[in-house]
Amino acid sequence: MAPPIKRAVSAEQSELLRQIPSVDELLAQPRLAELAKRADRSLVVEVARTVLEDLRARIMGQLATALLAEISPVACDRSALEERITALVEQILARSLLPVINATGVILHTNLGRAPLPETVVEEFRRAATQYSNLEYDLEAGARGKRDVHTAQLLTRLTGAEAAVVVNNCAAAVLVTLAALARGGEAIVSRGELIEIGDGFRIPEIMEQSGAVLREVGTTNRTRLADYENAINEKTRLLLRVHPSNFKVTGFTDKPSLDELVALSQRTQIPLVEDLGPSCLVDLAEQGTSEPTVRQSVAAGVGIVTFSGDKLLGGPQAGMIAGKKDLIARVRRHPLFRALRVDKLTIAALEATLGAYLRAAWDEIPVIRMLRMTPQELKRRAENFIRELRPELPLDEVEIEVVDGASLAGGGSTPTQSLPSKVLRIASVRYSAARLEQRLRCAPAGISVIARVEDDRLILDLRTVFPQQESLLLKTLAAALH
Ligand SMILES: *Cc1c(COP(=O)(O)O)cnc(C)c1O
Repeated sequence: MAPPIKRAVSAEQSELLRQIPSVDELLAQPRLAELAKRADRSLVVEVARTVLEDLRARIMGQLATALLAEISPVACDRSALEERITALVEQILARSLLPVINATGVILHTNLGRAPLPETVVEEFRRAATQYSNLEYDLEAGARGKRDVHTAQLLTRLTGAEAAVVVNNCAAAVLVTLAALARGGEAIVSRGELIEIGDGFRIPEIMEQSGAVLREVGTTNRTRLADYENAINEKTRLLLRVHPSNFKVTGFTDKPSLDELVALSQRTQIPLVEDLGPSCLVDLAEQGTSEPTVRQSVAAGVGIVTFSGDKLLGGPQAGMIAGKKDLIARVRRHPLFRALRVDKLTIAALEATLGAYLRAAWDEIPVIRMLRMTPQELKRRAENFIRELRPELPLDEVEIEVVDGASLAGGGSTPTQSLPSKVLRIASVRYSAARLEQRLRCAPAGISVIARVEDDRLILDLRTVFPQQESLLLKTLAAALH
């Protein structure tokens, strides 16, 4: 071991070092003693040691006497040390996952947790989480059962499919389906559908991981049925059709209809799989989101459809795999299925969400409720909001009005279609729109509010704000404008 480097310690330095209290002395102070009771004592001791070591290092590093005067006497001051230790411990203990108010008007905001779940799910969640359940137990037979049963019946009823299973998310659903049906063979996909969606989900890469060989056909903007037909050979295991999600090809475009692909699949006995990603269980055409429904694809004769639980469906993160019995059975048997299975909380939340669909209780499902909100309703809410906000504002400094705006479904659905909305437009003399946006996002005392900025104006869309959050939003906004 190398000998430690000896450094001369000046008189000022040794005086400062002497002033540093011991960990035990610090922890005997009422404030830290109380903290040690609340948190684990060893955590407080560890943090206190780190803070004192840091102080020692700083004293030794500061060689110029003038700077030492700066460290002293504040740095060794006990109450300053206590404060620092308390702040660090609080920071370690603080929650990282925090609720925010989504005032962006993007209903399925991937960064903000996508679909908020129905309130009715909470009770199911609590029971499944804190008690034992028949998760994998057949109560009648008194024997081992399958966790699939809790959602299979609901899913087959709502989609019209013969069978259905659930995995962790839609990316997993595509992966396990490809692995089970096409590993070692080829899967044909149109070049116009080789998409990448957020956070690294790329069809070619998923394909590679599944062990299937991607057989691209057609071009980015035009693919014909004959392109699929010509690519079929003895190694072809499936035809894959992918929902384009967050992008749209417009202009000189062509692709075969679903019916044509189904007919090809039946003629050749090669299964057709459709990754429907954001698609929903009900027709939302009236709400301006012309998404295909899962039921339509199943009825058309697609072999397997995959779709996401926390997009337009409005439920928990999950990936649904629905379709023909024999194909679903092959997916169910694949070892990846076990690795990607859903937990009991997801099953409880999904069962409750699907139950709301079965009862046509649209208003229980926040995503559907938000999609169905009319501009008139949003205008009324925005005007009431302004009426209550005005008395709280520095009046001559803030301009606030209700104007036409647009909300988005988000989550990879209907990228080019927006929902007509009425939004709050705010300008302040004191703060730029960007600064206001930041003040709302980092609200020191209250909840974080996520808003948009357009043309140097702050935009708040109440479509994605829960009515019970409005008073909190009002308080936070008033504070940010002061
Ligand atoms: C969003 C999406 C996925 C991935 O869904 P997750 O549930 O987020 O894993 C897969 N395919 C398509 C077409 C999508 O839009």
